[in-house]
Amino acid sequence: MEKTLFQKIADREIPAQIVYEDELCVAFRDISPAAPVHVLLVPRKPIPSLAAVEEEDAPLLAHLMLKARDIARAEGIAEGGFRTVLNTGADGGQTVPHLHIHIIGGRSMQWPPG
Ligand code: AMP
Repeated sequence: MEKTLFQKIADREIPAQIVYEDELCVAFRDISPAAPVHVLLVPRKPIPSLAAVEEEDAPLLAHLMLKARDIARAEGIAEGGFRTVLNTGADGGQTVPHLHIHIIGGRSMQWPPG
């Protein structure tokens, strides 16, 4: 199967500013940042979206949440606050079909999103 863009980044076939990686996930700076801090956290497993996760993915999803917390702390946005976003499918605004968590911060956010 063709690798997703984010698999290619995780495998270092496409360059990116990687800020964290371990055996389960990789985090790198978004190429088009929506705020002073904008990191994408992706599992190495190519799950297409949140709509496609399985029960067996529960430990991986918990790991991603904890790493999102760690990345927010490392980026200096945990205390002031930050936003985590999972765009899912066409109506959710998802453009890359590989599950990813946006970690966005460094400015005040608005609600509701556009
Ligand atoms: P989404 O719209 O939720 O699927 O988010 C995809 C994100 O990937 C967007 O914020 C893009 O700016 C980002 N993106 C696309 N290509 C790259 C790349 N080569 N390196 C880093 N981020 C990327």
